[in-house]
Amino acid sequence: MIAESIAAAMRQATDTREVLIGEGVLRESGHVFRRNFGQATAALVADENTYRAAGETVRDVLLQAGVRLQVTHVFPGSPRLHPEIERVEEVRHLLGETQAIPFVVGSGTLNDIVKLAAHQVGRPYMVVATAASMDGYTSFAAAITHAGVKRVDACPAPRALVADVQVLADAPAELTSSGYGDLAGKVISGADWMIADALGMDPIHRPAWDLIQPQLREWIAEPQRLADGDRAALERLLGGLVMAGLAMQAARSSWPASGSEHLFSHLWEMEGLPNAGREVSHGFKVALGAAASAAFYEKLLATDFSGLDVPARVRAWPAHHDLEAEVRRAFGLATLADSATEESLAKYGDPRRMGQHLTYVQKHWPAMRERLRAQLMPAAELAGLLAQAGCPTTPEAVGLTRAALRRDYNRVRMLRRRYTALDLAFEAGVFPRLVEALFAPSGFWAQR
Ligand SMILES: [Zn+2]
Repeated sequence: MIAESIAAAMRQATDTREVLIGEGVLRESGHVFRRNFGQATAALVADENTYRAAGETVRDVLLQAGVRLQVTHVFPGSPRLHPEIERVEEVRHLLGETQAIPFVVGSGTLNDIVKLAAHQVGRPYMVVATAASMDGYTSFAAAITHAGVKRVDACPAPRALVADVQVLADAPAELTSSGYGDLAGKVISGADWMIADALGMDPIHRPAWDLIQPQLREWIAEPQRLADGDRAALERLLGGLVMAGLAMQAARSSWPASGSEHLFSHLWEMEGLPNAGREVSHGFKVALGAAASAAFYEKLLATDFSGLDVPARVRAWPAHHDLEAEVRRAFGLATLADSATEESLAKYGDPRRMGQHLTYVQKHWPAMRERLRAQLMPAAELAGLLAQAGCPTTPEAVGLTRAALRRDYNRVRMLRRRYTALDLAFEAGVFPRLVEALFAPSGFWAQR
């Protein structure tokens, strides 16, 4: 089922030509390389953990398939590798001395590092997945940190992907939980995209939407089976994550897979979560962000916008320097404040456009609300699924206090130009009240 969906999705993909998922397919990776890159040499990149998990086998099967390994670069297994631009430069430097095709064995960080390095030397690349931990395998961009600021650099997705379910099953359980969090977050990003589409901010790319949303509920329906180590469930999870990446390729945008739930994760990735006691994975941050957004949506959907005084909102809209001052007050890190200022002004800088949004919402909210309800699920239900999958669903679980999470709703809103439910509430003037209600004694966060 998922294999058919992927085959159909590949017809729209611009970069990825072969995806092989199944038990034991690791041994096919030499042939996959040959089919896609002919007689080219390979540059194998891994870290000590992924090299042990699959890299050694990959090395053997490449040699058996007659592929010459021109470079083997194994990063240390600890401390944990970070997606920093310096690591990209390290790989690019190695590649620059050869004509080899980059062949990465790893998951999120390693794939992103090699994806960008391959792009910088103008070569396609191949990946062997070592965990069903996120959806970036087949996406057309890499999330890399430049001087402390996470940037999403556009670069082609891999030409070929091999994911051996046996390898995925042997990965730490937490990585699978993370993948589930990343996938379940699409419930939220879909709703945010519906709002951005309705208000004329970012139109929905229908073919990309159709690659994820119609099947999403089925993909995330049985988290317990994942926790039990069910292979079919694991294959379905990885398949869903691959589909999400292919949808991003089709749309040439991260919108199919990333809304307000990812804005939370981006903020926490850039600032770090120092009180967590250990590093928190991307998917875990997305999971908590998804719970946070789902709870916010409940309050938003319960709001009546029929009495909005649009001209008064437009008249009272803050001037650019006030918007900028508010953003700068909210962010400590100067580089982060700079980028958030630019991003915030891009979406809040035009009071006339804001007035058009509100006029639309005032008129069409009942119908919009029904569509959003059908897309979303109750926050408690989503949080329940995430918890069953082993994802964190309280701020404390990632080292945040309630007060910090409360503050972060507002900072997440200002982080990027991507227009979400948070922005709609802000423009309508209800944002502070809705967030406050979530932390009131009967609110979602007080109850958890
Ligand atoms: Zn993600």
